[in-house]
This record gives sequence, C-alpha cells and structure tokens, in this order.
Amino acid sequence: MKCFNHHDRDAFGICSVCGKGLCLECMEKVNDIITCKNPICKNKAKQMRLWRIILIILIFVGILLILD
Ligand SMILES: [Zn+2]
Ligand SMILES: [Zn+2]
Repeated sequence: MKCFNHHDRDAFGICSVCGKGLCLECMEKVNDIITCKNPICKNKAKQMRLWRIILIILIFVGILLILD
C-alpha cells in the first residue's frame, strides 16, 4: 500500500478513522491511535479512545454484578 498523499512512498500505517494509507510524515498519533492529519479524523480518534474507556468500565461493572 502507498501513502494517500505521496504516491511514491510506502505506507507505514493506516488511519483508523478513514482507512487511508499513511507514510511517516502524514501519520499522526492521538492517544496511541494512528490517524491522518485530517482534524476530523483526529477528533474521532479522541472520541474512540473515550468510548473504549467507557466500554471497559461497563464490562468491569457487568462482571462485578455477575459475581455478586
Ligand atoms: Zn483519516
Ligand atoms: Zn505521505
């Protein structure tokens, strides 16, 4: 796969929001989630992180309720 912005460069990562191939220069990391430099993708990555934490808490509370 090639970088979405640079067709002569190999992609090192894929934006987890829009799925575009990204070279090192085009890659951004938001809370361990790889995204492109698009602000929309960066915002979504932040939300994804938040939802993941909420989900983990919900699962944790669910396990506690089952065990009790
Ligand atoms: Zn993106
Ligand atoms: Zn690039």
